[in-house]
Amino acid sequence: MNILISNDDGYRAPGILALYEAFKSLGHVEVVAPELNNSAKSNALTLNSPLYVHQGNPAFRYVNGTPADCVHIALTGLLDFRPDLIISGINNGANMGDDTIYSGTVGAAMEGYLMGIPSIAFSQVEKGWEYVDVAAQRARALVDALMQKGLIGHFSDEETLDGQQPWLLNVNIPNLPMTEQKGFKICRLGRRHAAEKVITQINPRGETMYWIGAAGPAKDESEGTDFFATAQGFTSITPLQIDLTNYTAMAPWAENFINTF
Ligand code: MN
Repeated sequence: MNILISNDDGYRAPGILALYEAFKSLGHVEVVAPELNNSAKSNALTLNSPLYVHQGNPAFRYVNGTPADCVHIALTGLLDFRPDLIISGINNGANMGDDTIYSGTVGAAMEGYLMGIPSIAFSQVEKGWEYVDVAAQRARALVDALMQKGLIGHFSDEETLDGQQPWLLNVNIPNLPMTEQKGFKICRLGRRHAAEKVITQINPRGETMYWIGAAGPAKDESEGTDFFATAQGFTSITPLQIDLTNYTAMAPWAENFINTF
């Protein structure tokens, strides 16, 4: 079992250290992660400046780039093996609902999925790393179960497992002690309200600085969502896809717009 670990909080973050500790006994495990915090970088790739790879401890390499950069260069030339699984995280805070659009944690996993490898993004619901070791054990339990079900295997770019494409999972784990953790639940993504207002301050030179405000509160946190499940103490699992096409909108657009000119 070959596993690549990345994240968006940087290679020194407690979440990735906990993930590595929980998975290192599972096989050949290597970390390629951003040098610095790259949260909310989504799938960004660095195209206009060089990337450098440095060695931390033997299994840890860090890159002056984004989460997607890390996975991209790992898979396209850095690693001398093809991972069977890519795991990203554990993120410092939830990636639920529309967070997944911005998340670098999801971006790293999505890059692996785009390269044809089963990939999982792990996040803790609350920031601050409380019970991060418990979260890492929950992550390991999920992967052990996936392996037992035969859902992790050797994929080439073309191959599929049981006729299915490699999969991408988004997982959010509540910050709870092991005794209070409920089971796993398959969930859809909820929705958040629009983000909070941008924060402005004056810098020492008298110029206005703009700071992106916090994500909005949950708007759709009804039963079946990741928000709902994690609030009950469950770990939410959402299978993600990449095709953003709004298929149900195609016919109305064709009918009411294209055909009218
Ligand atoms: Mn992050």
